[in-house]
Amino acid sequence: PATILWFRKDLRLADNSALEAAIERGAPIVPVFIWAPEEAGDWAPGAASKWWLHQALAGLGESLQERGGKLILREGSSLQHLRDIIAKTGARRIYWNRRYESPLRELDAEIKRSLREDGVEVESFNSSLLNEPHTAATGSGQPYKVYTPYWKKVKDRELPVLAEPDWPAVQFPERYPQSTPLEALNLLPKVQWYRSFYAHWDPSEAGAMKRLDTFLAAAVENYDCARDRPDDDGTSCLSPYLQWGQIGPRQIAHRLKQQCDLRAKGPQVYLKEIYWREFAYNVLYHFPHTPDTPLREEYTDFPWEHDAATLKAWQTGHTGYPIVDAGMRQLWQTGWMHNRVRMIVSSLLVKHLLHNWQEGAKWFWDTLVDADLASNTLGWQWSGGCGADAAPYFRVFNPIIQGQKFDPDGSYVKRFVPELKKLPAKYIHTPWEAPDGVLDYAGVELGKDYPEPIIDHQAGRARALAALDQFKSA
Ligand code: FAD
Repeated sequence: PATILWFRKDLRLADNSALEAAIERGAPIVPVFIWAPEEAGDWAPGAASKWWLHQALAGLGESLQERGGKLILREGSSLQHLRDIIAKTGARRIYWNRRYESPLRELDAEIKRSLREDGVEVESFNSSLLNEPHTAATGSGQPYKVYTPYWKKVKDRELPVLAEPDWPAVQFPERYPQSTPLEALNLLPKVQWYRSFYAHWDPSEAGAMKRLDTFLAAAVENYDCARDRPDDDGTSCLSPYLQWGQIGPRQIAHRLKQQCDLRAKGPQVYLKEIYWREFAYNVLYHFPHTPDTPLREEYTDFPWEHDAATLKAWQTGHTGYPIVDAGMRQLWQTGWMHNRVRMIVSSLLVKHLLHNWQEGAKWFWDTLVDADLASNTLGWQWSGGCGADAAPYFRVFNPIIQGQKFDPDGSYVKRFVPELKKLPAKYIHTPWEAPDGVLDYAGVELGKDYPEPIIDHQAGRARALAALDQFKSA
């Protein structure tokens, strides 16, 4: 009897443990993907993520077809569809790679139990992490809440890497159950705001490998310095591929060890970043409520403000702080934002503008192609001072100094905020300080072509610290 291979966030054919195990059984394989957004609760994939998923499924379908198989698509209850496919194919076995976020992980346990009761063999595997969260605990048996001791605990563990399967030997069924057309899943929005994404991304498994090859060929050597420079293409941009599993961290770590000297700073720091993703999953797994409430629960009562106008200005990249606006527009145009700028824009939102970190997390969730519940939650709680290994709330980034330091000649700003294109580097992060003649020459009228700062930096900082004092004394 056939084996069902249930794809979820592991949309690749290489280094896929469930696929490998299915092949080893030697029976025909029925590859399946079920679109069931409501099963993810409040954290169903956002709009940009769905755009990516559409392309990823198209690519996976083609790759399977080239190898003689077919990807079956369904929409609706996962358990019902799996039972239907089992009935139609006579499969007695189903394999998948594990998910770690609630409520999906509880759902998976429930599906496993139900299908086993039906007499079906169900096995799950790890393909998306170097170390699964349940495998690392502190000396006293507690989950890690600080990155460095976590990293020290897991960094030297052996990492298996699976080879590309021997495709000619893989069996597929002669007849398949009914499949929903990809277009009918309606993953693409009606308004085509995503058109500019195509210039930035090749959202396929091969595209992931190409990115990795390019990164390892040069940028990785200088990654320890270049990763903080949004004006430089110094990072790997692999995050959306990792999110949908078109590449796995084992593949990255393995290639890194094969091709680079891990005693050199660049490759070393890069590998540590891959472990930040692992740490984020470790926190999410052990503290599954953190997407909705801060890990440091007392921060639930922080005196956040609600101001629709400043939130909108931030979302659309009209805060008057060029580095922030460039980041928010990069996000809108490409579905991605440089990590340094994520830190700057999130700080402005939760400190100068006093918005709850969850407002930012929700906006990122909808607009990032790499939106990942673990890393997004960790990142936002880091900025909000209320998460695992977080920056203390009193440390307020200065968006002017951050801009001057990490985008010194303003080329990042100019790329995404074209109205400031003609402003000299001296004023690119402080247009309000430019003399009238300079603004005239640059064709910028502040308040008309580009906004004045939404709040004075010192005033914003003082207000954030006052809110912190009020919170502490309450
Ligand atoms: P590289 O610098 O090339 O790093 C390689 C990989 O390491 C990344 O793809 C990612 O998987 C991992 N990584 C790097 N930095 C981090 C980090 N700080 N935390 C966790 N993993 C990391 N990352 C997401 O993947 N999805 C998110 O939704 C997300 N939201 C974030 C929100 C905020 C407020 C902040 C500050 C950070 C967020 N990050 C998120 C982390 C980080 O910004 C991105 O992983 C990184 O910018 C992706 O670009 P890259 O692939 O070029 O990274």
